[in-house]
Amino acid sequence: MTTLYDTHAHLDYEDFNPDLVQVVERAAAAGITRIISIGTDLESSRRAIQLAERFPGVFAAVGWHPCHAFEAPEDFRPMLRELARHRKVVAIGETGLDFHHLPSGKPGGTADDDVRYKQKQTATFRQQMQVAAELGLNCIVHQRDALEDVLAEMRPFEDAVRGVFHCFVNNASDMKRVIATGSLVSFTGIVTFKNAQSVRDTVLATPLDRFMLETDCPYLAPMPYRGKRCEPAYVKEIADLVAEVKGCPLAEIGRVTCENAAKFFPKLPPA
Ligand SMILES: [Zn+2]
Repeated sequence: MTTLYDTHAHLDYEDFNPDLVQVVERAAAAGITRIISIGTDLESSRRAIQLAERFPGVFAAVGWHPCHAFEAPEDFRPMLRELARHRKVVAIGETGLDFHHLPSGKPGGTADDDVRYKQKQTATFRQQMQVAAELGLNCIVHQRDALEDVLAEMRPFEDAVRGVFHCFVNNASDMKRVIATGSLVSFTGIVTFKNAQSVRDTVLATPLDRFMLETDCPYLAPMPYRGKRCEPAYVKEIADLVAEVKGCPLAEIGRVTCENAAKFFPKLPPA
């Protein structure tokens, strides 16, 4: 069986409350030996750590998602530092910038609200990169309609912090810009969707040593589970498709993506 990692899961979401133990067992049975549960705010990050303490194959990333930035404390760093020092915390995130849904698109929202929203996301992103740099960790980057801004914000940290641009759906030229900075991309079940040929083109163009695999579960279940709850076991379906696109054996995809993860997450022990 090919060993694979799910580098981006939200195991702390209540979608998994009814059968979490079975979800983790099914992942192991499918060859997924490492799952990184990603925090989206302080509470979610704490829950991710609790899961990592409970399950040997589960690790945590701690951070504050840009879409919830308005709820983040003014200075989030002291709490983040404390959480990030945990032995099973392997990255900071998810963090980044998301300018897709802006306040002005909602009733009563103004252009001024958009400016404040972007400023708050940016401040929260910077704090997370600072802590990552201090602790020698990398960042899980969420980016939507904000690639230029994300790359610009990361530049001052270039020597200390790399990112994995998770759920990557941009084109090959954007991918090349990301990997030119030393960062990686990761692909979800979207690569299996019929209408996602452009993402498969990006997969084909991405060098083998520059990407990882993830589910982003409970979202984005790959074919044939599309529309259902996603879970870490389905990294197998994603890896199968990526192997097909790359024209190389599944074992090779497993080997390189686990190696990439081991290099990117210095605290993640091999499995
Ligand atoms: Zn996520």
